[in-house]
Amino acid sequence: MVQTLTEFDTIAAISTPIGEGGISIVRLSGEAAVPIVNQIFKGKNLTKVPSHTINYGHIIDPETKQVIDEVMVSVMRAPKTFTREDIVEINCHGGIVVTNRILQLLLGHGARMADAGEFTKRAFMNGRIDLTQAESVMDIVRAKTDKAREVAEKQLEGGLLTKIQAMRQEILDTLANVEVNIDYPEYDADTITAKQMAGVSKSVIAKIERLLTTASEGTALRNGLATAIIGQPNVGKSSLLNYLTKSDKAIVTDVAGTTRDTLEEYVSVKGVPLKLIDTAGIRQTDNKVEKIGVERSKKALDQADLVLLLLDASHDLTPADQELIAATANKKRIIILNKTDLGQQLNKEELETTTASEVIATSILQEQNLTQLEDAIKQLFFNGIENSNDEVLVTNQRQVGLLQKAKKQLEDVIIAVNDEVPVDIVQIDLNGAWDTLGEITGESSPDELVNELFSQFCLGK
Ligand code: GDP
Repeated sequence: MVQTLTEFDTIAAISTPIGEGGISIVRLSGEAAVPIVNQIFKGKNLTKVPSHTINYGHIIDPETKQVIDEVMVSVMRAPKTFTREDIVEINCHGGIVVTNRILQLLLGHGARMADAGEFTKRAFMNGRIDLTQAESVMDIVRAKTDKAREVAEKQLEGGLLTKIQAMRQEILDTLANVEVNIDYPEYDADTITAKQMAGVSKSVIAKIERLLTTASEGTALRNGLATAIIGQPNVGKSSLLNYLTKSDKAIVTDVAGTTRDTLEEYVSVKGVPLKLIDTAGIRQTDNKVEKIGVERSKKALDQADLVLLLLDASHDLTPADQELIAATANKKRIIILNKTDLGQQLNKEELETTTASEVIATSILQEQNLTQLEDAIKQLFFNGIENSNDEVLVTNQRQVGLLQKAKKQLEDVIIAVNDEVPVDIVQIDLNGAWDTLGEITGESSPDELVNELFSQFCLGK
């Protein structure tokens, strides 16, 4: 990877959210981090203090001698730091004015404003973490539930990295053998080599497939499982929504950069983050019949990974109900037979058989069986994966795409071997798969990709 000089200048950014808070942290990384801060710090001489110490003092404007803030300054010298460079963190009083003033002073004394994600990027560039770990840093910051955070932490520890490296090693060992066999072509060497290449391809494909089975759960944990609550007017959709979004369950996030003034509503159901679709539609109470018809439900359906279909247990199925049942047949879904307190016309078991879906009978009004509903959602989501807690999950589309590409390349190896294609040509595909797997960890990633990836980070991270 080409490294330009600017990547090693000293960068600074405010690492805590901008706004009022108890404290804020301004962070620097780079060779000049300590001397730069030392110029505007009154207290001990920071260039002399031991590494990994925190030091009391004041930030002053050296020109006016004005005291800006009372601070604690952490000095952490390379290489045992997050970026493997010298890092200084200034803990100052929270508040936009003070924090910005300190940042400005740093920029005036030789630091450069950090780009989004640049601290983490440096950790990657300096070989401290790989790309999957860098991505997990972002995931930890954005994690919507405890479970999502846990998975991201596991990835930060190098869970996925270890798996990918093992696969690459397997391929590399075979490639080395191929070289030997090509150099010393003996009788039958080609056949043996071809067999080895097909063998390693099969073995790695199986491992890739195993990882890919975790992808939908991993991605949903990261992004939230897009969930549509659908059903006829008055069946209890907004009551369910209210139940799910009340107090501690709701996580409401702004959608940055959208022109519409929308909020994405997330709820955590036993650790599963649900991203609720079209809640505005459900909440609109005026002119219900017209607005929340079958058409609107179908629209929500298109985007949904999970469907919660509500039916009125106290009435027979209407043609519109039948239509919704048919429209959701190939979705992950849970059918909710609501209003059981009004008497039950619909038979749960019968419905389970005809729809081949989990059916939960509830009274949302009386909060009956809602825990069962939550359990069912969790069960459906984790597909038993949660039981093996050390499972590494693939958590994003970039990783999924590359795994699929590597798998395809390995399949091509097997086809070529079967077609008795010359080994030095088969070797090219095997080499390709090795490269593709390397892109996941960043060992063979193009610069543009790396830049794009880090630009998605927030400032100061
Ligand atoms: P939506 O049109 O599907 O969003 O339905 P709402 O949630 O607005 O509910 C319509 C009416 O049904 C409201 O008066 C609710 O209080 C009532 N309701 C919701 N769930 C139940 C239930 O389990 N039992 C009974 N008896 N009424 C319910």
